[in-house]
Amino acid sequence: MTTEDTRTYDVVVIGAGPVGENVADRTTATGLSTVIVENELVGGECSYWACEPSKALLRPALLRADAGRVPGLDPAAAGPLDAAAVLAHRDRMAAHWNDDGQVEWLRTAGIDLQRGHGRLDGPRRVAVTTPDGGTVHLRARHAVAVCTGSGAALPDLTGLADLRPWTSREATSAARPPGRLVIVGAGVVATEMATAWQALGTEVTLLARGTRLLPQMEPFVGELVADRLREAGTDLRFGVTVRTADRTGGEVRSTLSDGDRLTADEILFATGRAPRTGDIGLETVGLTPGDWLATDDTLTVTAVPGDWLYAAGDVNRRALLTHQGKYQARIAGAVIAARALGTPLDTGRWSPHASTADLAAVPQVVFTDPEIAGVGLTTIEARRTGRRVHVVDHDLGHVAGAIQHSPDYRGRARALIDPDRRTVVGATFAGPGVAELLHSATVAIIGEIPVERLWHAVPPFPTISEVWLRLLETYRDQQGSL
Ligand SMILES: Cc1cc2nc3c(=O)[nH]c(=O)nc-3n(C[C@H](O)[C@H](O)[C@H](O)COP(=O)(O)OP(=O)(O)OC[C@H]3O[C@@H](n4cnc5c(N)ncnc54)[C@H](O)[C@@H]3O)c2cc1C
Repeated sequence: MTTEDTRTYDVVVIGAGPVGENVADRTTATGLSTVIVENELVGGECSYWACEPSKALLRPALLRADAGRVPGLDPAAAGPLDAAAVLAHRDRMAAHWNDDGQVEWLRTAGIDLQRGHGRLDGPRRVAVTTPDGGTVHLRARHAVAVCTGSGAALPDLTGLADLRPWTSREATSAARPPGRLVIVGAGVVATEMATAWQALGTEVTLLARGTRLLPQMEPFVGELVADRLREAGTDLRFGVTVRTADRTGGEVRSTLSDGDRLTADEILFATGRAPRTGDIGLETVGLTPGDWLATDDTLTVTAVPGDWLYAAGDVNRRALLTHQGKYQARIAGAVIAARALGTPLDTGRWSPHASTADLAAVPQVVFTDPEIAGVGLTTIEARRTGRRVHVVDHDLGHVAGAIQHSPDYRGRARALIDPDRRTVVGATFAGPGVAELLHSATVAIIGEIPVERLWHAVPPFPTISEVWLRLLETYRDQQGSL
């Protein structure tokens, strides 16, 4: 027998990934009753099939690569990784795909959880199909926030169902290293997973459609990552993709666009993301199922009247990153609370109700060898948008702190400076250990600190942060003065 139930809350959130959890946290904290709907695991993609397990796989790989470049440690780092121990660590970091801990957190935060598949059912209404086949009708007095995230986008290839390819989910949760893995793609998931599985003993072949890895980032980034992947044994192929692929007798056989044939144990398609909006009732509010949800800077879905529908996180395509989605969640929560309480919105640039950083400074770390860390504008984006910037480069291998890190340190840094305002508008670092450097660049961009003032931010000796001083000195020498 199925059940029907109707409940009313101030706010209904669909999707309990990191972003939905944060929207619910913010609205609950302001006294709005909030329910969150989840049809899989509370914690979302990030906790179980993306950030957490991937970084758990990568940490030993990157540490071993770093140790191999430090005199005295190099022999100790030369042996193979203990794959079983790394995978057990990964399992722990993915909480063994059990969401009890996060469900308990919801309870302590005062957020109600409704398990099941949520669909919009007209304005301010959500119908949830529960695991037992029943329906719960949720009404929202003030807001519905769609935080359903994204899933892997697969190419249009014949026989995909029988091929059973890996997506990012299998690549981050596999029980053992495959003998041979073909990776299709050149972006973050492709390069990180190539780094991890190659280090775990898999023979990796990576097929990039274009001419370089990580093509959205500064060109030197892809070159450095490609060099290290090749040195680790990865077979990198550019300007090529898969034409046909099938699984026979446990093996994946594929034909490439250049006529070559490959045989492997698994094939991973790391070919982009698609919004999880195909079956969430968008048609009931005049939107098209399967579309990304466009919002303004308040995270309000612009195509729906009435200011009650919000979209935050991957699903709005503003920045497909956990930290940026959680930032949007904090802004959306503040906007929902202000509208519910009838207080005016403050939506100016960098105001509490505007997700300004999405457009100006999205920090991203790629945990490859070497690490890549970028925020704000790149030269590619500047060229595309016709924005004038002053480009300042420095070889990280000449920075004392980097040489202390490892004597043959290879890396590079680039800062983009707005020639009129004389502030940093973009920065990219490539090199071991640069991830923790990124927040300094983010603060410089968000704070719009003039280079004359940055000159007084003294980096400690001998750290990799000294690259800031070198970049400013290079800029000074190019300009004739600071
Ligand atoms: C391999 C990989 C590695 C990554 N590594 C990083 C990293 O290191 N750092 C970083 O910042 N980002 C990383 N990302 C990106 C990050 O995972 C996403 O940006 C983040 O998970 C987005 O959060 P979200 O809450 O928007 O969506 P999700 O995490 O996808 O959560 C959405 C939730 O909604 C639920 N849901 C969907 N539809 C419904 C429905 N109709 N009813 C009920 N529930 C529903 C889903 O089950 C899910 O729990 C990585 C991504 C991948 C693929």
